[in-house]
Amino acid sequence: MNQRLMGIGMTSQRTRLRLIQRLREKGISSEKVLDAMCHVPRHIFVDEALASRAYEDTALPIGLGQTISQPFIVARMTEILMQTDSVKKVLEIGTGSGYQTAILASLVEQVYTIERIQSLQSKARQRLRELKLKNVRFKFDDGIMGWPEQAEYDVIIVTAAPTNIPSDLLAQVKMGGRLIIPAGEDGQQTLHLLEKTEEGITQHQLDAVQFVPLLGGTV
Ligand code: SAH
Repeated sequence: MNQRLMGIGMTSQRTRLRLIQRLREKGISSEKVLDAMCHVPRHIFVDEALASRAYEDTALPIGLGQTISQPFIVARMTEILMQTDSVKKVLEIGTGSGYQTAILASLVEQVYTIERIQSLQSKARQRLRELKLKNVRFKFDDGIMGWPEQAEYDVIIVTAAPTNIPSDLLAQVKMGGRLIIPAGEDGQQTLHLLEKTEEGITQHQLDAVQFVPLLGGTV
């Protein structure tokens, strides 16, 4: 691995391991998820000026009013998604920095990801190329309708919050699959987990969270 990816000082493997330890303490127990987070260098997903803060467990700005999600939230959502049998094909709405995308790409066969801000998408694309993660397909679009041409997905993850859960997304989840999505008004969002079963849809409300809003159209 090259020096930039390996990091030094505040971006080194040692600093990264401290973050992994903190995630364990906060209740993340999937070794697969922790291992992926240990190997994907979060510091390349933020501007150089913020690289020294990349292994703090906080969301950070990535420009255009958007944020890279807090590592704990990335770990938590990924762990929940990976709890179903054989997750191979994932749809992500809200590529952002591409960090969550990279974690998913290290764990599953194929990731489809949609972003409505072109400049963020192109940076994310470059970063995943640098990490040699080739199992990701990008789409520049409003992701609220999902990506029906590629459906169905084993799981769908949304990393921006609508006020209400969009119905089109659940239709693209396969039987037995899951949708994880933050929803609610700003300041009072909750993480929702929806499961598609033979008996119907089950819905659980998980943690209180804070995501940027899911917006319409493209920029
Ligand atoms: N998982 C990302 C989160 C970035 S913030 C990361 O950790 O970097 C959420 C992202 O969702 C932003 O980049 C925002 O532009 C994008 N977004 C918001 N509404 C969207 C929509 N309707 N379709 C696609 N992307 C959307």
